[in-house]
Amino acid sequence: SSGYNLLRDPRYNKGLAFTERERDAHYLRGLLPPVVSTQELQEKKLMQSIRQYDLPLHKYVAMMELEERNERLFYKLLIDNVEELLPIVYTPTVGEACQKYGSLFKRPQGLYISLKEKGRILEVLKNWPERSIQVIVVTDGERILGLGDLGCQGMGIPVGKLALYTALGGVRPSACLPITIDVGTNNEKLLNDEFYIGLRQNRATGQEYYDFLHEFMSAVKQNYGEKILIQFEDFANHNAFELLAKYRTTHLVFNDDIQGTASVVLAGLIASLKLLGGALCDHTFLFLGAGEAGTGIAELIALEISKKTNTPVEETRRKIWLVDSKGLIVSGRKGTLQAFKKPWAHEHEPVNNLLDAVKAVKPSVLIGTSGVGRTFTKEVVEAMASMNERPLIMALSNPTSQAECTAEEAYTWSEGRAVFASGSPFPSFEYNEKLYFPGQANNCYIFPGFGFGLVMSGTIRVHDDMLLAASEALAAQVTDEHYAKGMIYPPFADIRKISAHIAARVAAKAYELGVATRLPRPADLVKYAESCMYTPNYRSYR
Ligand code: NAP
Ligand code: MN
Repeated sequence: SSGYNLLRDPRYNKGLAFTERERDAHYLRGLLPPVVSTQELQEKKLMQSIRQYDLPLHKYVAMMELEERNERLFYKLLIDNVEELLPIVYTPTVGEACQKYGSLFKRPQGLYISLKEKGRILEVLKNWPERSIQVIVVTDGERILGLGDLGCQGMGIPVGKLALYTALGGVRPSACLPITIDVGTNNEKLLNDEFYIGLRQNRATGQEYYDFLHEFMSAVKQNYGEKILIQFEDFANHNAFELLAKYRTTHLVFNDDIQGTASVVLAGLIASLKLLGGALCDHTFLFLGAGEAGTGIAELIALEISKKTNTPVEETRRKIWLVDSKGLIVSGRKGTLQAFKKPWAHEHEPVNNLLDAVKAVKPSVLIGTSGVGRTFTKEVVEAMASMNERPLIMALSNPTSQAECTAEEAYTWSEGRAVFASGSPFPSFEYNEKLYFPGQANNCYIFPGFGFGLVMSGTIRVHDDMLLAASEALAAQVTDEHYAKGMIYPPFADIRKISAHIAARVAAKAYELGVATRLPRPADLVKYAESCMYTPNYRSYR
């Protein structure tokens, strides 16, 4: 029976790739057809069958089934075909998977911790089969991608993010733990869906919510120790900022929606200076959208300029302006401002639309993080182009339908002068016989390498300087050849190498700050990162 069990264990199963000797040694004779395959041939066969599905969701299900059957082959596929499979395993397809997760659920891919487990969270953690966990990605499902409250079905997100931690960053799969916290949902459709898999109640809020989260955070630290990385993912912004602020001094926490986004966008800004000219401090920034993404990015820009110019952030913030649903955020605005917006309330008369804000602020960089599409109109882009030789325009809202403008619009309306990047991918675009390559400010550039750098150095706290280090490391991967095509991010195909460089720079900063516990410090951190990264090639069993 041991041979049969081996074929059923996704961590060890190699299917037809078991060699003759392994088949003898592990009681596999007769359980497999005679042919001995290679991992490469298995990969080729699987890619062929995945490409035959028309619907992305079917490709997603095929990938999840592969992960449950043969983990190494799953990661081999994902790594070797990252550009093709990322949109399947992660956004946009994962969003659809979450919406239908009630029907897709077969076996646990992570832990579900609901209010039913209140008072027993530590016990629940011990039910997970793996002991040496290094990274947890946790969501409460309240703001899944741009899809809103999906409650318990948000599980697809931590599962997908952790698959990327392994594929792109090199964290061992067994060291990754996806968790969904279920405090209810306010999504009426789900509450009335007979197949909904979560608690059928409205969301717990206030003290009850914070107490439950606190029990969770304490249990995690008690069970896994000081060096466990907890990534908060897709929490609504009314909790995200508070949780991050509350736990950053006691736990190793990272919020990708706030900090990961900020770091990847700052990397693009730093890289774009080669094309725009000047230093970061010479530019003026205007955001449409002042939520998790917008204010997170704004704060990191202010910090970078502050470090580079030895100026207090209170001053460097003054060249950064944000517009929210009520218009330009200004100090004289009536009503109360949310705490995370207060630093951006500069002295100015009220301005209630974006075009007027562009004319008033005269930004050189325009960044869209509102989640609302088509808001960078022809007039807005033309205004940017009339004030700047090379305006930088970042249309970050996802998915593609929500982008503030398309690549084509940015290039056409600026007569080819805009430098453009977006959250969702756009194809290259030919304008006046020149080919333009838009950049994609994808968080996947940063978080896998960032987290890996923390884990490999045994770091116990995240410091903003590490986010800056990650941005600089990513920007440094953009070469003159890329710049010549208008690119401000390196090609995604090189992501493993990019992640190793980011990990090394993050770890170096952690050692410098004295929060890295893996001693002695490896001399060559890039080499060290590369040597620690998980690779999915089969191993031979004796
Ligand atoms: P969020 O916290 O909900 O913030 C949204 C912000 O946009 C709020 O400040 C809101 O104003 C403002 N807003 C909404 N409608 C508006 C309108 N019509 N005009 C002006 N402002 C408006 O959301 P988030 O997490 O920051 O995400 C925002 C978008 O960024 C999403 O589409 C997301 O996909 C995208 N994003 C992209 C990346 C990336 O490219 N790497 C990363 C993260 C997020 P109020 O505050 O007044 O409500
Ligand atoms: Mn997210």
